Amino acid sequence: MHSTLPEELETFRTSVRRMAERHFTDLAVKVDDGEMIPDSVRPILADIGAFGLPFSSDVGGEDGSFLAWSVLQEEIGRVMPVMGVYLQVNLLVAGILLESATPSQAEEWVPQLLNGTKSGFMAFTEPQTGSDIKMMTTRAKKVDGGWSISGNKMWISNAASADIGVIYARDPDDGLSMFLMPTTAPGFHVGAPIEIMGLRGTELNELNFDNVFVPEENLLGGKTGIKTSVLRKVMPIGKIGICSICVGLMQACLEEATRYARQRVQQGHPIIDFQSIHYLIAEMVALIEASRQMVYWAATSKDQGADAITELATTKLFVTNAALKVARMAVSVHGVYGIAKGAVVERLLRDVQVFELFEGPSEIQREMVMRAVKDIT
Ligand SMILES: Cc1cc2nc3c(=O)[nH]c(=O)nc-3n(C[C@H](O)[C@H](O)[C@H](O)COP(=O)(O)OP(=O)(O)OC[C@H]3O[C@@H](n4cnc5c(N)ncnc54)[C@H](O)[C@@H]3O)c2cc1C
Repeated sequence: MHSTLPEELETFRTSVRRMAERHFTDLAVKVDDGEMIPDSVRPILADIGAFGLPFSSDVGGEDGSFLAWSVLQEEIGRVMPVMGVYLQVNLLVAGILLESATPSQAEEWVPQLLNGTKSGFMAFTEPQTGSDIKMMTTRAKKVDGGWSISGNKMWISNAASADIGVIYARDPDDGLSMFLMPTTAPGFHVGAPIEIMGLRGTELNELNFDNVFVPEENLLGGKTGIKTSVLRKVMPIGKIGICSICVGLMQACLEEATRYARQRVQQGHPIIDFQSIHYLIAEMVALIEASRQMVYWAATSKDQGADAITELATTKLFVTNAALKVARMAVSVHGVYGIAKGAVVERLLRDVQVFELFEGPSEIQREMVMRAVKDIT
C-alpha cells in the first residue's frame, strides 16, 4: 500500500520494526506464558528514543511527534502489544507532570521519565471507581508539613516496579487533587497481582495507602483541585498509543492469516485459493487501512495543537472494534489451529479484548462522540 507518511517516518518505521522483531518476538511468547517484562528492555527502548519521542527536547524529550510515536507503537504492537502498554504508562505520567507540575516538580522527574531511567505510575481507578472518577474515595488529609493519604486503588499498571506515582485523591474541599508519591513512602503497599486474559505481563496490582505522608512540595502543581484541561490534554496520549498498538496487532493478524492460508492445503488447494478466505482477508485489509489512517489523523490533529478529544474518541471506538473483528477473522482463517495454545492469533485475540476495555470502554467513547455531535449540529 502507498504510504502518505513522510519518508523519514517510513525509515524510522523500518528501524523500529527491526528492533521489535529482534528483541521482542520470543519475549512476547515468554511473557504471555507468565514471565514479567525484564528491566533489560529499558535501554533497548531508550536507544530508539521511545520513552520521550513526542515531547520536546526542552523538557528532556526527543523532539519527535505524536505521528512518529504512533508509528513506533504500531510497530511494537505488531510484535508484542503488551510492550506498547508498558511503554506508554511512563509517557502518560510525564504528560500529566508537564501539564500540571510546578517547574521544580517537573524538573526533578520529567527528564528521567522521558529517558527511561525512572518509571512512574498513575492511580485513579478504585474498587468502586471505574469510568466515573467522581466516585473516588481515597482521601488526602492536611497534616503538619504536608498530606496524609489513605485508601485503595485497583487495576494500577507498573506500580510494583515504579519509582514515582501520581495519586488522585479527594482533598478537604471534596475536590480531587494529585500527589506525587515516591514508591518508597512508608504506608504504601502493593497488593497481589491481578491476572487478566490478555496483555499478560502487564504489571497490574491493587494498591493500599495507609496514612502515607506526602510532603507539601509534592502536591502536584502546588495547589489542590484538578483542572479538567490537564485531563483533556493528557487523555489523547494514552488513546493514540492504544489505537496505534491495535493497528500493529491487526497487521500481525493479517500476516499470520495469509501465511497460514498459503500453507494450509484442503481439497488439493492451499486455502488461500478459496473465495471464503478472500472475503475474510479483503475485509481485514479494509479495516486495517481505515484504522491506520484514522490513527494518523488523530495523531496529526494532536501534533497540530488540537486537543483531539473527539478525534480520539471516534478513533478508539472504531479501531478497537475493528481490531476485535480482525483478530476473530484471523482465528477463523486458521480454523481450530487458531484457538490452540501457541497460535499467535490466539494470543492476539485475548490481547485485543483488553484494549476495548481500558483507556475508556467503547460505551464511554460513544457518549463522547455523541456530546460532540450535539455541539456541532
Ligand atoms: C490493562 C489495564 C491497565 C490499567 N491501568 C490503569 C492505571 O495504570 N491506572 C488506573 O488508574 N487505572 C488503570 N486501569 C483501569 C481502567 O482505567 C478502568 O478499567 C477504567 O477506568 C474503566 O473502569 P471499569 O472497567 O471498572 O468500568 P465501569 O466504569 O465500571 O463500567 C462498566 C461498564 O459500564 C459502562 N459504563 C460506565 N459508565 C458509563 C456511562 N456513563 N455511559 C455508558 N456506559 C457506561 C462501561 O462502558 C462498561 O461497559 C487499567 C485497566 C486495564 C484493563
